[in-house]
Amino acid sequence: MRTALIFNQLWCAFMAKIQKIRHSRFVSQQGKCFYCQQPMWEGNPEVFARDYHLSHRQAEFLRSTAEHLVARSEGGGNSASNIVAACHFCNSRRHWGRTALAPESYARKVRARLAKGKWHGLLVLPFEAQGGSASISPEACPIDIPTARQSQSMSG
Ligand SMILES: [Zn+2]
Repeated sequence: MRTALIFNQLWCAFMAKIQKIRHSRFVSQQGKCFYCQQPMWEGNPEVFARDYHLSHRQAEFLRSTAEHLVARSEGGGNSASNIVAACHFCNSRRHWGRTALAPESYARKVRARLAKGKWHGLLVLPFEAQGGSASISPEACPIDIPTARQSQSMSG
């Protein structure tokens, strides 16, 4: 019992750290998804959905999540340089295939599909000029990202 409690505390501390990094990346990315560059929300989906005229389901696609660019098994770790903020839609689909595409390739694929009205279909903001932001190398971290409900309860 005690072991489970300690594990739980460690896990919560770990997730709080990840969420803190995710939040700082969210701010530095001006609230936009690393891949599709659409606006994301953290904390309050209702306000976001209203502001962008989205349904609750559509707003859920654009929830801000922590994305590990390089898997820990590849030496990626949980440092701020290896974590970006990506929308739930882009984040979850990067890991659907057998192997995740490298961040740059995946970002190109996402934006090409979104421009054609495919992807999540929520082209709320036009794309900005492409900078060199997606410059960190391959493989994604396979660990699960907590849901909004969990992260909210942990971040307080
Ligand atoms: Zn996205």
